[in-house]
Amino acid sequence: LNASQYIKEHIRTVENWPQQGVMFRDITPLLQDPKTFRVLIDLFVHRYMDAKLDMVAGLDARGFIIGSVLAYELNLGFVPIRKKGKLPFTTLSEQYELEYGSATVELHADACKPGDRVVLIDDLIATGGTMMAGKKLLERLGAEVVEGAVIVDLPELGGSKLLKSSGLQLYTVCD
Ligand code: IMP
Repeated sequence: LNASQYIKEHIRTVENWPQQGVMFRDITPLLQDPKTFRVLIDLFVHRYMDAKLDMVAGLDARGFIIGSVLAYELNLGFVPIRKKGKLPFTTLSEQYELEYGSATVELHADACKPGDRVVLIDDLIATGGTMMAGKKLLERLGAEVVEGAVIVDLPELGGSKLLKSSGLQLYTVCD
């Protein structure tokens, strides 16, 4: 079993959650098992240890769990990109469309500096809207998003294709 297959075996699919017709990929079994959690983090650490990054950014909320451990291991700072209304200081916002309605993510105005090389972490790409909004926020501060990285890509939803066509390089552990 390679690392990717091993990780995939620890992701649970929950049918009809949070609504009818959705197959939700649940990463909590992966986090719960210390060996799998370590295998996952080690994959990311090895991928980025020589990437000359300045910062790790994570998307609310599961991107915080992976991203902050990665930042710690790489000896870098961590930048949270949060859902609307959570960040206390001056913020930048990006709104994006969901299947029903819209969502907004926010970033502190002093979260990074122009030219900073940043990797953007989340657990999963579905339509790609969340990661695209995060990328735009970081770029508005002049940062360079070196790569977007997730555990799971759902390619049939078109998000990774959309992100790649916007010029974002992607790393996905399983699809
Ligand atoms: P997107 O914006 O449509 O690409 O959706 C990705 C965002 O929604 C990420 O922040 C994910 O954490 C969350 N998400 C969407 N579907 C799932 C899922 O099946 N499992 C876990 N998270 C999901």
